[in-house]
Amino acid sequence: MSYSIEKLLADHFDLHDCEIKGLVGYANSNYLIKSRGERFVFKTYRYDEEELAIIGAENELLLFLQRKADKPDQFPMPVSSKQGEYLIDVTLDGVRVIGRMLSFLSGDFSGDHTMRQESAESLGTFLAEMDLLLKDFDHPLYKGRAWEWDIQHLGLIKKYVNDIPDQHQRSIVRYFIHQFEVEVAEHLPQLRKQVIHNDANEMNLLQHEQDITGIIDFGDATCSPLINELAVALTYACYDKEDPLHWLVTISKSYHRKIQLKPLEVDLLYYLIAARLCLSVCNSAHARKVDPDNTYATVSEDNAWSMLHKWLETGPTKVSRLLRESLGLQLPVLSEISEKLAHRNQHLSETLSVSYSTPIWMERAAFQYMYDSYGNAILDAYNNIPHVGHCHPHVVERASAQMARLNTNTRYLYDQLTAYAEQLLAKFPKPLNKVFFVNSGSAATDLALRLVRKHTGSDSIMVLEHGYHGNTQLGIDVSDYKFSHARGQGQQPYIHKTALPDTYRGKYGGEDAGMKYATDAVAEIRSATEKIVAFIAEPIVGCGGQVPLAEGYLKPVYAAIRAQGGLCISDEVQTGFGRVGDQFWGFEQQGVVPDLVILGKPMGNGHPIGAVVTTDEVAASFEQGVEFFSSFGGNPVSCVIGQAVLDVIENEGLQHHARTVGDYYQQQLRELSKTHPCIGDVRGSGLFIGIDIVKPGTTGTDRALASHIKNFLRSNHILISTDGPDDSVLKTKPPMCFNRANVDQVVDHIDQAIKVFSAK
Ligand code: PMP
Repeated sequence: MSYSIEKLLADHFDLHDCEIKGLVGYANSNYLIKSRGERFVFKTYRYDEEELAIIGAENELLLFLQRKADKPDQFPMPVSSKQGEYLIDVTLDGVRVIGRMLSFLSGDFSGDHTMRQESAESLGTFLAEMDLLLKDFDHPLYKGRAWEWDIQHLGLIKKYVNDIPDQHQRSIVRYFIHQFEVEVAEHLPQLRKQVIHNDANEMNLLQHEQDITGIIDFGDATCSPLINELAVALTYACYDKEDPLHWLVTISKSYHRKIQLKPLEVDLLYYLIAARLCLSVCNSAHARKVDPDNTYATVSEDNAWSMLHKWLETGPTKVSRLLRESLGLQLPVLSEISEKLAHRNQHLSETLSVSYSTPIWMERAAFQYMYDSYGNAILDAYNNIPHVGHCHPHVVERASAQMARLNTNTRYLYDQLTAYAEQLLAKFPKPLNKVFFVNSGSAATDLALRLVRKHTGSDSIMVLEHGYHGNTQLGIDVSDYKFSHARGQGQQPYIHKTALPDTYRGKYGGEDAGMKYATDAVAEIRSATEKIVAFIAEPIVGCGGQVPLAEGYLKPVYAAIRAQGGLCISDEVQTGFGRVGDQFWGFEQQGVVPDLVILGKPMGNGHPIGAVVTTDEVAASFEQGVEFFSSFGGNPVSCVIGQAVLDVIENEGLQHHARTVGDYYQQQLRELSKTHPCIGDVRGSGLFIGIDIVKPGTTGTDRALASHIKNFLRSNHILISTDGPDDSVLKTKPPMCFNRANVDQVVDHIDQAIKVFSAK
C-alpha cells in the first residue's frame, strides 16, 4: 500500500497529530516532525540496495556513538519503528522508499553564527573528540567504499570537470587534481585511516553560543585518512573568510591538542583542502547541469571558487610552514640564500646572472603565481614564457602522457609533428606555410639567418638599435643590445644598424613619425654600398624598453628590402601567440606579412621549443643546401606541448583576455602617471607593457627610481623587471591569465614604491 506521510508516522512510529515540515536535503527528502513536544527528523531515500546498505552502516555508526559518547545528544540517535526496525521499506506517496527516524538535535547551525576565536577552537576540539570515538568503529562497507565525496578518491571527480562552464576555472580544478596526484597520492597509504564524518560543514554543525554542540548528517561517513576530517572542516570553516589562514591555524591547533597531527598530515593539508574544494565545485557544476533548478547543491559554490583563488595566491609551502610552526612541529631547515648562491657559483659560471641582490629561491608555480622555498607566494607580472600560466594542467597532462608514449625525432613519421605544424600554420597568413622546429628563440634566429643567406646569397642585414634576437654567434651579430654593449663584440661589417623608431624618446614623434623613420631607413637601404638583403625586428622592441615600432614603419621598410630581392624577418619570440591582444602576431599591428617569423618563449609554455615559419619559396632555396636536422626540434613531446598551448589560448580566450586586461592595466598606469609625473610613458599592447620612468617634466631616464620600484615590488612579492638602454623602463608581460585584481595589486605597489622613494 502507498502511505501518506501522516499515516506512515502513525502506523510505523505511533506518532499522531504531528506537525510536519519538509526540510531541504542534498539528495533525499527529510521531514521535521513534532509530536507531543518531541521532535524527530524523518528521512526518506529512494529504495536502492546499495543505499540500503550504506544507510544501514550509518545507523550502526550512530548507534555506536550513542553507546560510546559521554554526551550522546551531540549526534543524531536512530529511533526504531513500532516493529523494532531502524530502517523501513515502504511506499510513500506512490514511491518505494527507505525511511528512517532520527532524534532531532537542537541548536543553531554554526553557519548562522559569525565565527569567533572560541567557536573555532570549540570546532577543533569537537571534531577531535568525535574522531577519538570513531577510531574504534569499524564497518566493512566503509572500508570498501570508493565514492566521489571522499578526498582520497579525488580522481573519481574527473568525469565532472567538464561540467564547469568556465574554461579557466576548469583549468584551476585540473591543476589541483593534478597536484593531488603528484604530491598526495603516493603518501595516502602511509596516512592513518579510520571512519570519519567527512562533512563537518557549517550546515551540519550545531552551535550554542560559542560552543559546537553537535553534528548531523553522517551520510558521507567513510573510512579515509583521518586528516581528511580536518581538511573538510577547515575547507568550510575558512572558505568564506577574509583571512582563511587565521582560522585554519586556530581550528587545527585545538584539534591537535586532542589528536596530535603528524608532519606529513600537516604538509598535505593544503592539497587536501584544495581537493575538497574541487570536489565541491565539480559536484555543484554537475548537479547544475543535471538539474539547473537544484539550488541546494550549489549553495557553497561561490565560496569554494573564491577559496580556490585564495589558495593559488597562498601556495602550499606557506600553509605547511605556518601550521608546523603553530603546532610546534619541526620546520624543515632551509639554507640561506647566500649559501645557495655560493653553491651555484661553485658549479656554474657567474655570467649567468641572477635577478635581485637577494635572489629568489623558487620552489613551484601555478598560473600567475610563483612560490619560493620560504613559502612566499609571488605574483608574476613579468614572465611571458609560461604564457598560458605556470604549470598549466592541460600542458602538463598532455606533455607527460606523450612522454610516456613516444618521444623521438623527425627522421620517423609520427602524427604529432604534422598535426602541430598544421595547427600552428593555420595561425599565419597564407604565404607563410612552412615551419622548421628548433629548441629556442636563438636557434630560430640562427636558422632564419641561414635561410636568408641561402635564399639571397648574401648576409647583409639591417637591424634595429637596441634589438635582441638570440645567444648564438649569428644571434649576437644581429643584436645591437649585445654587440654594442660596453663589453660586447662590436658591430660586424655585414650588419647595418638603423634607428629604433621610437615616438617617445626618439628623433621623431607625432602621427607621421613612422613614415619619417621609415624614410630614413629606406634611404639607408638604398644607399648602402653592399646590398642589404634582409631586415629583422621585433614589432615591440623588448630590450629597447618595450618600444612599439612607430605606426606605419614596417610597410615602407619591407617594401624597400623586397625591392632589392631581400627578405623580412619578424621576431615574435616575445610578442607572439596573442599576447599583444588585438592581434595574434605582433607584425599584424603594422599590416605587413614577413617572409620569416621567429618563434620561441611562449610557444611551449616553458618547454624549450622555437620555430621559423616561412614561405614555400624560402624553404625551397634552403633545400638546395645541406640537410637540416635538429635532434629535438619537432619531437612528438614538443609538438603535443605546442598544440596544448594553442588549445589553451583558444579555449580560455586568452588573446581577448590579454586585450581587456592589458587595456585596463595601461589605463590604470596612465591614471597613476597623473599623480606621479615620473611615469613618463606607458606603452605596449595587450599584456606586453613598458612603463618609462623619467625625471619629471623631461624624457631623461631615472634608472635609480626604476630600480627602486622593481626592488620594492620584489620585497612585496611581485615580479616585474627593468630594461631599455638605461635600464629605466619597467617591463611587465605576465602570464596571460593575469587578471584585473592582479593589475590593481601591481599598480597599487608601484604607487607605494614611488611614494616611498619620494619620501626619502
Ligand atoms: N628574440 C627575442 C626578441 C628574445 O627576447 C629572445 C630571448 N630573450 C630571443 C630571441 C632568444 O630566445 P632564447 O632565449 O629562447 O634563445
